Parts: sequence; C-alpha cells; structure tokens
Amino acid sequence: MEQSDSDSPPLVGGIRGRGTKNGNPIPSRYKKRGREAVEFQLHSISWNLTRRCNLRCAHCYLDASSPEEEAQGELSTEECLRTLDQIARVNPHPFLILTGGEPLLREDLFEIAHYAACRGFTVVVGTNGTLIDAAVARQMARHQIQGASISLDSPEPSPHDLFRGVSGAWEGAIRGAEALKEEALGWLAEAQKANGPGLLISARCAPHYRRVLYQRGAPPSRWRAYAGGCPAGTHYCRITPEGEVTPCPYLPLSAGSLREREFAELWWQGEIFGRLRGRGREGRCGRCEFRALCGGCRARAYAFSGNCLGEDPWCLHRPGSSGGQEVLLPEEETLGLESEFALRWTAEARERLERVPSFARGMVIRVVERFARETGWTVVSPEIMRRAKKR
Ligand code: SF4
Ligand code: SF4
Repeated sequence: MEQSDSDSPPLVGGIRGRGTKNGNPIPSRYKKRGREAVEFQLHSISWNLTRRCNLRCAHCYLDASSPEEEAQGELSTEECLRTLDQIARVNPHPFLILTGGEPLLREDLFEIAHYAACRGFTVVVGTNGTLIDAAVARQMARHQIQGASISLDSPEPSPHDLFRGVSGAWEGAIRGAEALKEEALGWLAEAQKANGPGLLISARCAPHYRRVLYQRGAPPSRWRAYAGGCPAGTHYCRITPEGEVTPCPYLPLSAGSLREREFAELWWQGEIFGRLRGRGREGRCGRCEFRALCGGCRARAYAFSGNCLGEDPWCLHRPGSSGGQEVLLPEEETLGLESEFALRWTAEARERLERVPSFARGMVIRVVERFARETGWTVVSPEIMRRAKKR
C-alpha cells in the first residue's frame, strides 16, 4: 500500500441543524448543542481501490499483493460507481482520495475518478508515482483528478528503495512527479511556490504535534484542525478494496460492508462511528486541555491497547501541565464548519466557493466575510475573495 500523505484526512468539522446541505436528514441522536455542535458530516474519504501494488513497502498497512495477482474480492466498477452515488447522498461534494495498493493498477481508475468528479467530488490520487508518465499524467488531468500525493522517504534513492522493496522506486517516483508537473498539475506546483520557500510540515496523523505547535507559540493557522482534532469516524472514513467501511485506513474496525448495506446507513448507524462520535476519551486524552485540537490518534490507541477510545501512547503530555484551561480552535481555523452566510455573495463568488472542498468551505466563508466587514464591503465578490486570501 502506498502510504502517502493523501491517506491522511485533510485537516477538517461538520454540520449543524436539521439536515445536510443536500437535504438528507441527520438522525436526531447525532445532534449536539452549542458551538461544539459541529455535526458529523462526512467530508473526506480514503478509498483503497485495490490491494495490488508494484512495490513492496515495509510499512504497508494493506499487505499489498503483487500486480500479477488477481483482483480477488475487489469491488467491481459497477459497485464502485454505485457507492459513489450513495456517498453523494451523504455529501455531494466530498474530498475523495483514490488510493491502493497502487490505484493505477486498476484499469477503471479513470472511469471511477471521472464519474466522481462529474458528480462534484474533489478527486485526488494517492500513488507511488512509478507508473506515471506523460500520457498517464494527461489522462489524469483529462479525467479531472485535481491532485496527487507521491511519498518520498528520503532525498537519496537508496533509503527510499530499501524501504519500498524495489530498486528504482525513487527514480520512478521523481519521474512521476515531474510528469505530473509538466502535464497536469503545474498550476499546483506554482501555487505551492507562491507560498514561499521551505517545506510545510503537516503532521495530520500525529495530532499531538498540534499541541506541540501551540505550546511553542505557533500561530493558529499552523494548528488548524477539525473541531475535536482527529476526524476519523466523525468527518472521515475509509473504504477497503472489498467494500468494508472503517473510520480511517489505520483503524481496522469495520462499520459494515457496502455489499450488504448502503453507505449512508453505515455512516450514520455504524456502531464504531457512534463510539468515536461520543467523544468520550480515556486516560490522558480524556482529561487533556488540548482535546479540541488533538484528541489523540484513535488508531494508535487501538493498536497499542485494543481500545480505540484509550489514550494515544506516543504523546508525552501530562494533562493540566499547560494550565489546565481547555484550548479551543479559533472558528477561522476550524475545518468542517457549516456554510453559514452573514453577507450577500454574488453568483460568481458562490460559484468560486463551490470549488473549495466542503471541509474548508465554512472556514473560508468566515475568513472572507471577516475581511469584507473590516474593509467596509457588504457584498462578497470574487475580488473580495482574492484580497482576503492575499492578506
Ligand atoms: S485515527 Fe490516527 S491515523 Fe486515523 S485519522 Fe485519526 S489521527 Fe489519523
Ligand atoms: S494527551 Fe491526548 S489529547 Fe492531549 S495532547 Fe496528548 S494525544 Fe492529544
């Protein structure tokens, strides 16, 4: 399995009120009160489309099989497309990470990606990069894949190749990244360059690093998160190649099979999701003042103790040692908030907003409207959005 950054959920919150934006009712037992009432809207899905892979990584969580092996048990193309329809009934605009194994080994990858993109999903691919050449990169762009994640374990080829179990894997990953830059995602590379030099570290699945950043005085934009920290099961889930739905790729507790139940039923009624949404945490994570922005990694807790609500053993924090007062995320750094409009937005501005993945939309609205109010505007246009982003 290609363990890329894309396997991690984008940092993200949820939805409040009577139903999702597409009108589907949220069962009342999932509602909460107050500012923390960011509800359990699905925003992001990692989908392991296949176990097959052309590399043999030491860290693979899927125990990937070789490319020659049969795609035994994998959801068929028809089942995948039906699942996309079912996901769209929970959230029509989710962030979808198509990964594997190596997803490019599935002949129907582009068909699945295109179907999802045409439905309004933001589609990205988690790949080891070695199968991407100029033609594949163009195909990816043509089928509206908006991003790709390629892991590099080292600036030198040999540690990467050793870890990935195949010599030439590093060169292949670099070639793949170059092809994407040339043929498909050059704009993304430019946008990243515009953010200035340096490497942006995002410790998504080491949520306690947000606590470390806070304690070191980093600005809130560096510890941006979903309300509650780790979104596994609250705003994020994973689908296995065989159609099991779990809270995240590293937490092997299934809510059930898509071959037996509809996606919405699993998302809203799966027992494991209910447990994680209860927010009850045990040990240090249960008493910690950083619960709202961290919460600990549920998968690590499960791996070490068999209890997915237990404390995250990799965190050294002693609750209370930072003053004991609960640290809350500023609203403008909280992902997954409901899209609530206080100002009028032009049709063009709304159209532009539609291009923002649903997990970031509520946050973007708040940031833009605050800028508009501070600069004396009562109507939000694309120009105001641009200026707010520049600030
Ligand atoms: S449970 Fe751990 S690995 Fe899974 S999404 Fe949360 S922080 Fe990441
Ligand atoms: S004790 Fe748990 S909630 Fe607190 S910072 Fe550590 S991992 Fe996060």
